[in-house]
Amino acid sequence: MVNAARIKDEFLELVQISSVSRREGAVAKRLTKVLEGMGAAVEVDDSGHKTGSDTGNLVARFPGSVPDAAPFLLCAHMDTVMPGDNVRPVVNGDIIKSDGTTILGGDDKSGIVAILEAVRVLREQRIAHGPVDVLLTVCEEMGLVGAKHFDVGRLRARTGLVLDCDGVHELITRAPAANRMSFTVHGLEAHAGIAPEEGISAIRVAAEAIAAMRLGRVSAQTTANVGRIEGGLASNIIPNRVMLRAEARSLSVDGLEAQTAHMRECFEHAAAGHRVTVGGREHAARVEARVDRDYDPLDVADSTRIVQLVATASRALGVPFRTRSTGGGSDANVFTGRGVEVANLSCGMREIHTVNEWVDLRDMVSTARLLVEVVGLHASKK
Ligand SMILES: [Zn+2]
Repeated sequence: MVNAARIKDEFLELVQISSVSRREGAVAKRLTKVLEGMGAAVEVDDSGHKTGSDTGNLVARFPGSVPDAAPFLLCAHMDTVMPGDNVRPVVNGDIIKSDGTTILGGDDKSGIVAILEAVRVLREQRIAHGPVDVLLTVCEEMGLVGAKHFDVGRLRARTGLVLDCDGVHELITRAPAANRMSFTVHGLEAHAGIAPEEGISAIRVAAEAIAAMRLGRVSAQTTANVGRIEGGLASNIIPNRVMLRAEARSLSVDGLEAQTAHMRECFEHAAAGHRVTVGGREHAARVEARVDRDYDPLDVADSTRIVQLVATASRALGVPFRTRSTGGGSDANVFTGRGVEVANLSCGMREIHTVNEWVDLRDMVSTARLLVEVVGLHASKK
């Protein structure tokens, strides 16, 4: 029923339409045409002026074939990371790669083609199903920005799947919460050769803070990173300002808060150790910290309906199934905090965010089959 040749052709077509974050317009236009051709009512929201994209998030609504069946959400993102322009896919049997100069874009076009094929099969084969909302977001790779600006009131479904994960036959049910941080260290400028005792080096304060910090894989649940540092003017000037960008992630919100507090304290502690008196006036190093919650955790229990649906569907098809956690966020993190019960299903992408990215056509076929089963099962269970 699921048509492998159709999946392959559609995948090859979509990866050749560039859609780097904020430039999803061309692929959104193509997908609108495809979805309308399949019988959906398609709407593109007006989030473009907030995300900076040349299009909005795309919602396609398909009617159900079973009266009163609960609607189901299928979601993927349209954007890719860079280098993602002029992708030239190379096909070798069932394996599809890029030519090595760009990413492939299987993240997340493998998810998109699995969704399209599943909905086609449900409708062509007249498999009993409820209404299906297909949501294709923009700017996911920039920090889930499209999803954050999407109004979930536009969806009929309150249960569904995000397809945006590497591997196959796996369901991500736990993903971290994340904080984005910026620190500005203020020191005191002075001539490095003539009056070094009259300066406070912001670079030195930052160095002491970072050296004292727990970073990397802090625990099984928590990771942290200082990813950018910028400051100073010249080798003969004691630097009075350094800016740093950092992040922390944790599967537990308590763990996230503890790590964030620890990172702030390292800066405070380092700054407290640096003060000078110049001309009778005392100067102290100081740190400005800004912390923003980037996204909330995904934490879906094995007993929830969505996990049970995928587990039962996998059993019915005789394919393996397991749930797992990941260290990365996805649109699922955003929707779960807004009352939509979602988990993130793997859809065949591999070695993502690299020029070695590849997919195996058989994984995309298997994912489409699983979606057909899940959506059918959802309609049969009240
Ligand atoms: Zn992705």
